Amino acid sequence: MMLSASLHREVTFLVVWMLFMLVFGVIFDMLMFTLFTGLSSYVVWHLYNLNRLVNWLNKPSKNTPEAMGVWDEAFFQLHNQYKRQRKSRKKLTKILKQFQKSTQALPYATIVLNSNNEIEWFNPASKKLFGLRAGLDVGQRVDNLIRQPEFNIYLNNKKFSKPLEFDNQNKKILLNITGYGKGQHLLSARDITQRTQLDEMRRDFISNASHELRTPITVMSGYIEILQNSVNEENKYPVEKIYQQTVRMEKIISELIELAKLETSMFIDMDEKIDITVLLNEVYNEALALDQGEHEIILDIGVINIHGSYEEIRTAISNLLTNAIRYTPEKGVIKLTSSSDVTGSYIHVEDNGSGIGYEHILRLTERFYRVDEGRSREKGGTGLGLAIVKQILDRHGAVLHIKSELGEGSLFSCFFPSV
Ligand code: ADP
Repeated sequence: MMLSASLHREVTFLVVWMLFMLVFGVIFDMLMFTLFTGLSSYVVWHLYNLNRLVNWLNKPSKNTPEAMGVWDEAFFQLHNQYKRQRKSRKKLTKILKQFQKSTQALPYATIVLNSNNEIEWFNPASKKLFGLRAGLDVGQRVDNLIRQPEFNIYLNNKKFSKPLEFDNQNKKILLNITGYGKGQHLLSARDITQRTQLDEMRRDFISNASHELRTPITVMSGYIEILQNSVNEENKYPVEKIYQQTVRMEKIISELIELAKLETSMFIDMDEKIDITVLLNEVYNEALALDQGEHEIILDIGVINIHGSYEEIRTAISNLLTNAIRYTPEKGVIKLTSSSDVTGSYIHVEDNGSGIGYEHILRLTERFYRVDEGRSREKGGTGLGLAIVKQILDRHGAVLHIKSELGEGSLFSCFFPSV
């Protein structure tokens, strides 16, 4: 073991000191006495310094005791450490104060929970949103204070990857829980009543407007159909164009109504198992009929396990297949496949058609977003197909993955994570 410089000096001092006492003892012929006195004075000196150290440790201060030898070194090191600690404590206190100030100013309710779901801390916004009382509610279980069944289930299930929307005291609340530390959780929540009401108004407006428009357009297209058979050759073309546009309008309206229905109908029976073989065969046969031999369409069904609404999933896959037919040139290949792995199940619709530029991919599922509006119109598109697909998948806890390269083709994959 290496001796530190100060300990080395200390040993040297001890040796010199004892040698001095030895010589003194020999000269005055009292060797035992001088050796004993030398050693015990040395021990007393150490005990004295040890006592000063214990006193300082009991009540640390900026000034460490003055000492000599190894004790000087020890007190010097302690002094430095004390200074460093004070500095970092000051810094931590400053950070903590800043953190508290910012969380106080947060518009969102923020609550810190311990591993037993007891409240450790909350900010003023929590008082307003949940009626928490400063001083009284710290230490209480949060589910005793927010007494809503949905919240209780959410808290106990511990599946916090998705936020929870629930009603509490006439307010619509959006709540997130994030785990941290040793079983602690940070709960943040905000009032979304106004936003939800606006969303509802928007949805109602679209749904009402679509329903109102549906009847006159159906009447118009009926008359135009009759006109088509009775007009003279000269007027055939304009009447045909009017007919095409009314058919397009009818399609847009029925897709808008479909979207509004998907957004408003809450219930979906996730216990219902979907017979994927029947479903894929059905959409495949429909696609063959629509395609009329223009493309090679391949069906390859792998066993997968998905639950939910048969009709909705059928609509989603049918929309993807119709798009593949629409945007793949003649003789192109379209594949409809299903597969699964440990993470979940997939339904893929792949084509080697026109492909989509990278910059458009993130926006494809927006309503009325089209890469090439003229082309989409010409092919009978409405710009709502992928928005419907996304809405359906959202309702099933599934996700749409899109991979595409211009001129190479596209792969649309519906991913159903295993639960
Ligand atoms: P649309 O009714 O116009 O097809 P969608 O919402 O179904 O509307 O699709 C949005 C846009 O995405 C389309 O206009 C088209 O540009 C592009 N798109 C969708 N599927 C494909 C595909 N398989 N290949 C190339 N482009 C596609």
